[in-house]
Amino acid sequence: MQSEIQRESMLRRGLIDETGARHRRVLLRPLTGWQEATLGTSAGGVDPWDADAVLAACIERLGGYRDVVPDHVEALSVGDRARLALTLSAMMFGDRLWLTVACPNPACGEPADLQVSLAEVLDHADEAEPEWLEVATPDGPARFRPPTGADERAAAGDDAPGPADMRDAALWCRIVARVGHRGPLTREDWLALAPASRQAIALALADAGSAPELFFASHCPACAAWIELDLDPIDLLVRQFRLGADRLLAEVHSLAFHYGWSEDQILNLPRSRRWRYIELLRNQLEGRSLLGPWS
Ligand SMILES: [Zn+2]
Repeated sequence: MQSEIQRESMLRRGLIDETGARHRRVLLRPLTGWQEATLGTSAGGVDPWDADAVLAACIERLGGYRDVVPDHVEALSVGDRARLALTLSAMMFGDRLWLTVACPNPACGEPADLQVSLAEVLDHADEAEPEWLEVATPDGPARFRPPTGADERAAAGDDAPGPADMRDAALWCRIVARVGHRGPLTREDWLALAPASRQAIALALADAGSAPELFFASHCPACAAWIELDLDPIDLLVRQFRLGADRLLAEVHSLAFHYGWSEDQILNLPRSRRWRYIELLRNQLEGRSLLGPWS
């Protein structure tokens, strides 16, 4: 059983405030029972605002900020947001993930297990990344930064529906500050760059490793076909809470039944304390000592 300790970690980019100061050190706290229950029973896809709210609720402190709100999370890079979601996932559900994926071979379709260690995925996350990335392109030196949640959201909602390359361009012109003498860029400017320039920038962004590597590959044990999986950390976190929803309900039921506590009182307990009472109850019902084996 995991203990309910807060976990400190470092973001690679962090929050950059109006003065240009960076806030990279983050202290995470587990969700309350109420937050677990709300997330576990939510239906459908994950609204990005909900994801920001969940991550903000789990941040005890971010650099100099004590009251972290969803707007702060939205301003973090896509890589840092992924890192936060994975750290929270490891903190609440353990480091090892067992994922079951259906084999993509239409003649097979057998389920295959993929095992992922979140600690390995989060490795090397401590180094600060440069605030601006630079690369030489046929159109001149380019200066750009990794996208944030706000960039992705603005680009997705920008003048949609439009051709896919115009929507991509909306994201690129938010994050590319300059190419040669041009900058800031309009979408038309971005599309007017040499294809080799756009490719150089995209490759340099991927190589900068600002986001954790979330692509996993394995072989199907039945037919040896390649199985590929692209992990979405926010989606993973919400799915874990949904899987835990029935268990949480059973825990509330047991504690309410045996102690006569209200749902509100039980969900206000920290998870570690809730689990400790469940353990005591189990020991009592099974006639074991209420104290640990060490006593
Ligand atoms: Zn197969």
